[in-house]
Amino acid sequence: MPKPKDRSRSMKRKNIRIPSGKSVIRYKRDLTPGTPKCAICKKKLGGSSPVGSKTQKRAERPFGGVLCPSCLSKAIKASTRLKEKAITLEEVDISFRPYVEVLLK
Ligand SMILES: [Zn+2]
Repeated sequence: MPKPKDRSRSMKRKNIRIPSGKSVIRYKRDLTPGTPKCAICKKKLGGSSPVGSKTQKRAERPFGGVLCPSCLSKAIKASTRLKEKAITLEEVDISFRPYVEVLLK
């Protein structure tokens, strides 16, 4: 009987013949990379791919491969308004706060 962790169908199975001649099942978690998505709105990121070299995988800008252009634009606007003291951090949407705080530095 496989161990409980190996009974999950999210584990890939592969029949392997070991040196003694016995056939065993090897379990491996499927690590296929998915389509990159925006960390805030979960929209698919344009110009981003899970495969390829580092520069082919994401846009070369702050939070490239993490945030979509419209969410980044909102974060930059919020950080500028915070710098100019037009708004306070409490007024910024909570999902934007970690990115706004990084942009303030
Ligand atoms: Zn977004």
